[in-house]
Amino acid sequence: MSHSPTVLEISLSAVEHNFNYFKSKVSPGTKMLAVVKASGYGSDAIAVATRLEEKGVDYFAVAYADEGIALRNAGVVSPILVLHPQFGNLDLLSSHSLEPNLYSEKILREFVRISKMQNLQSYPVHLKFNTGLNRLGFRGESMKKIHALLKDEKTLRVKSIFSHLVASEDFQSREFTLQQIQEFKAIAQEFEKLWGYTPLRHMTNTSGVLNYPEAHFDMVRVGLGLYGFANDTSEDGKLRNVLSLKSVISQIHEVRKGETVGYNMGHTAHASLRTATIPIGHADGIFRSLGQKKISVKINGKKAPVIGNVCMDMIMVDVTEINCEEGNEVVIFDSQEDITTMADQAHTISYEILTALGPRIRRKII
Ligand SMILES: *Cc1c(COP(=O)(O)O)cnc(C)c1O
Repeated sequence: MSHSPTVLEISLSAVEHNFNYFKSKVSPGTKMLAVVKASGYGSDAIAVATRLEEKGVDYFAVAYADEGIALRNAGVVSPILVLHPQFGNLDLLSSHSLEPNLYSEKILREFVRISKMQNLQSYPVHLKFNTGLNRLGFRGESMKKIHALLKDEKTLRVKSIFSHLVASEDFQSREFTLQQIQEFKAIAQEFEKLWGYTPLRHMTNTSGVLNYPEAHFDMVRVGLGLYGFANDTSEDGKLRNVLSLKSVISQIHEVRKGETVGYNMGHTAHASLRTATIPIGHADGIFRSLGQKKISVKINGKKAPVIGNVCMDMIMVDVTEINCEEGNEVVIFDSQEDITTMADQAHTISYEILTALGPRIRRKII
């Protein structure tokens, strides 16, 4: 239990709204996979998954086995795809009904070995194909070899084949994306020819769902969008904000003219100044690049800019013009615009702001 008073409020009704928004973008038969890796993008994977399971999600995806085990231990029963299973612990998957992405020959051979050892029967596995990202996955030309390795294995069954788009949010890369989609279609056709059945096919992430309806195939994989962002401000407006970060004022200082505030004299008071110290810092995901007035927090409805340098556990904000006292609530963000501003000011993307929110911040479901 964290002793920090800083709280991340998570609105599950907003998650549900966002899930339904993406569901409305796909045909009724298209399955919905919710990506809840990295603690549900910094939120609370168990709370998000439990709510979405009630609302008819078809699949979940996590990055690593332990994330899937945590969901199973919390009672999540839907299928879970492990996107990045690791060589050393593939034996953990079957006992928790976790379905591996077999992305390389090494991982594939090892899982075949384990599936025999464990006497599995038609255990669902997923094959990932690299159509341009050059991150994880087989090249299409490996298909015959994969087929040769798997065709007589009764222990496994390929439940899905999938790929991942390189730049689904970027219209300038449209031609490249369309090429990826074509390549994936050809891969799926070859699979069907060799195996004699059609597995689930999936390719799109959040932006792909919105920008490439021709690539929805049998299932879509939505991550960021569930948490309120779609890499596009007009789409963000159709989603609801899920996350609000709140803290309290620890101490107020009357800083005299000529004094400085924070490490390395990061801010100089050119006139007398009132500051508030807030218990959240770069160890909690408030990047040091957000000091020096790059962002403001809200106190009693007014904006208080962060002054000086962000410390590990604290920030100092200017409250000279704000009527406030120690113990008052501080809103670090409570809207998509606040989070987008933070991302822009730190020269990064909303994904990084959310997933950087550290473990000391208490998660509170609302
Ligand atoms: C993380 C991830 C997603 C989700 O992407 P978003 O842009 O957050 O929707 C989908 N597919 C794969 C393979 C991923 O790694």
